[in-house]
Amino acid sequence: MSQPLSRTLSIVVLIAVVMQPFKGSVRAAEEADRMTYAQAKARIPQRQLPDFWVGGVQGLADRFERLHRGTARVIAISPGGRPIHLVTYGTKEPLQQKANFNSAIGGRLPSAYMDKGARKKPVVFFVGPVHGHEVEALTGLVNFIEILETGKDLRGRDQMRLRQLGLQCRLLILPAGNPDGIARFEPRSLQGMGHNDLRFWGQGTWSDDMLCGWPHVKRQHPLVGDNVGFLGCYFNDAGINPMHDEFFAPMGPEAPAILRLALEEGPDLAVSLHSHEPVPALLRPAYVPMSVQQDVRMLAERYYALLEERNLPHSSLPQVRAEDSDSPSAFNLTSALYHVSGATPFTFECPHGIQGFCEVTHEQILDIQLTLYEAMLRDELDKKR
Ligand SMILES: [Zn+2]
Repeated sequence: MSQPLSRTLSIVVLIAVVMQPFKGSVRAAEEADRMTYAQAKARIPQRQLPDFWVGGVQGLADRFERLHRGTARVIAISPGGRPIHLVTYGTKEPLQQKANFNSAIGGRLPSAYMDKGARKKPVVFFVGPVHGHEVEALTGLVNFIEILETGKDLRGRDQMRLRQLGLQCRLLILPAGNPDGIARFEPRSLQGMGHNDLRFWGQGTWSDDMLCGWPHVKRQHPLVGDNVGFLGCYFNDAGINPMHDEFFAPMGPEAPAILRLALEEGPDLAVSLHSHEPVPALLRPAYVPMSVQQDVRMLAERYYALLEERNLPHSSLPQVRAEDSDSPSAFNLTSALYHVSGATPFTFECPHGIQGFCEVTHEQILDIQLTLYEAMLRDELDKKR
């Protein structure tokens, strides 16, 4: 072996030795980012979820047909053929509408859209999960409906105080904003499960079983095509994420139905209910006036104080600020709710109870939801007084 060749070989061997652990760790990271449908299913705990927990769409239509005080109707059908129900309480007070909201604002007379101040009751709009795996709000809203009907939640716990607040308002409750996504969510609850379970069921996988993950999953929309593996519960059966539909030229039926309802009802307050890993948080609504953002911040203050009283965790208050040009926020469903109806809109994020993050129990998740509704109703009723 010649001298230069032997030196070259030693260098190659050296590089190979140095690279070995690196290649190993890349492979390990890749494995951690990969999950097949069979693996995801095998990871679902064999357990009995609490009776008060609502983790699927089965039985919802029957439940809504049996209401005594509330009225249920179907406002849209999903691409998968599933009904999207609206449940209402309190009569709609007739108001004259001479202009749509943005024209009224252009005319410097918001009351030309609706003189909301002339209404006796506040109108509050609860938009249940448009992300199918975020069933914490489905549980919350179905329990809320039970409370409005009977005064008790599905645990049998007395909730007369919350019922009294609710019956002083007009309530628009859309328990399931994306029934296709919810129907695809086999675990029915992520409580006690892991970070990658959330990634699999929430955002899904590419065709090579790699987890799509956030924010990459938003970089292809509609999420359809040969490169898609398991379609995450973010999406309806046509691959549309209703939070990011094209609001001026809609691709799916869910977001337009939600916005049409807001436009017709002119809610004072509207929430889009979501879930995430950290503590409960009200998010700053983007592309709305500072005064509207301030309103959300004040609601957060009230809500977080109630959570503290009840030994439940919470985030810090949302900022009030101008839009950012470096890393702009998306104009999402929450922003659109303001621009069609003038409602104070916000996104709420509830903890799933994922291991290693905000490890709340199912009971605590329900309390976090019901406490939010209480804070929202109190806030709007106080404004009317
Ligand atoms: Zn979400």
